[in-house]
This record gives sequence, C-alpha cells and structure tokens, in this order.
Amino acid sequence: MKVAIIEDEKSIIDAVNIAFEFRWPGVKLVAAMTGRDGIALVKNESPDVTILDINLPDMSGFDVLKEIRKFSAVPLIILTVRSDDEDMLRGLEAGADDYIVKPFNYLTLLARVRAVLRRAEKTPIPNDQYTVISPRVRIDFVNQRVKVDNRLVRLTPVEYRLLVLLVKNKDIVVSHQRIMEEIWGKLFNGDTENIRIYVRRLRKKLQDSPPKFILSKHRSGYMFVS
Ligand code: CA
Repeated sequence: MKVAIIEDEKSIIDAVNIAFEFRWPGVKLVAAMTGRDGIALVKNESPDVTILDINLPDMSGFDVLKEIRKFSAVPLIILTVRSDDEDMLRGLEAGADDYIVKPFNYLTLLARVRAVLRRAEKTPIPNDQYTVISPRVRIDFVNQRVKVDNRLVRLTPVEYRLLVLLVKNKDIVVSHQRIMEEIWGKLFNGDTENIRIYVRRLRKKLQDSPPKFILSKHRSGYMFVS
C-alpha cells in the first residue's frame, strides 16, 4: 500500500510518517513539498491514496487536484487550514473524496484514509448487507453505500455522513447545531448555508423532490422520515 502526501510543512510529513509506521505498518509514504512535485509524484508512483494540502508554496492545492484528476482517479483527501467551508466545498467539488481540517488528529487521518480506500474498492457487495431504512431507501453501513429504489446512489463522504446522522435519528429533528458539530466538527455560528447546500444535493441524489425523506424544520433543523 502506498500513500502520497503533498505538503510543504516537513513536520506534518514526519508526523504522518510516524503515524503510519506505528499504526499501519506496510504502508509506504511518499512525499512532495510543492504542487508541481506532487503532480509528478502521483504520476510516477501511482499511490493508492493521496493526501493533499491546499496551501502550497508554488500553486494552489485546487489546481494540483485539477491536474491530478486529468490522469488519475486516486482517492484523495485534502488538508485545509481552519474550518474554511469555502475550501472544503471547493475541494469536494473539484473531486476530492474527503477533507481534514488542520490541526488534525493523526488517528482521524488514518481512519479517513481507510474509509476512502474502502469506498474505492470495487468489489461486488452482497445484497443482504443493506439495512432497510424506509420502503425506498436502503443503506449498507459496512460498505457505506446507499440505494434508493434499488438504484445505487453515489454520495460524497460528507453527504453520506449527513444522511447517516439523519437516519440514525429517524423521525426526530436534528438541529443545525448538532449537524454542524457532527458533520463538520465545529461550533455552529448561526450560518445554515452549508447545511442547506448539502441537504439540497442529498435530496437531488436521493430524488427526494418534493421532499419526502428529508424534511426541513424551519429555523431548527432537519428530520429523516421513514
Ligand atoms: Ca501548507
């Protein structure tokens, strides 16, 4: 297993290296400290997963991501400073599979790497792993896949986490504050725009229009109904 990291802070590369050495032996970490070197690294090393910092000295991580996506579908996790929603949204739009906010916990990073790898696996899944959530929605929690009307729906990691949070609290209103804390790991500042964007996308992917699965509770939150 090979993991590429594109990050200009040597201390972070070293720490990630140590985390893998101790917690996940057998992973080879290859690193680049500029965007240009990073693109070449992914091209030459064909890693199984790539970790990409957004703030790089020579070019933006978004442009690096765009270049990488021209030749590779490698699962990719972006690192952003602060919980910059703009960064996170742009990254996911540009084809990142997940994001982590700096400073981060190294065990979280390893868990996210595992999760994107698991999703990238294209092994067929037996039907019986799906849990019936409602007559039209089924979720395979092991492989993190969602089916609506027996059709596989491709969700981003954030969309998936949001759906699972609502499903686990079926028929209960989940507050904006709780969504913010559990999905984005930060305090709610009163701005519901991000949540709205994600709910809109989730509904679109679930073909939930007019909304029947995910209901908005004005000023309070969202509720999944079965
Ligand atoms: Ca940086």
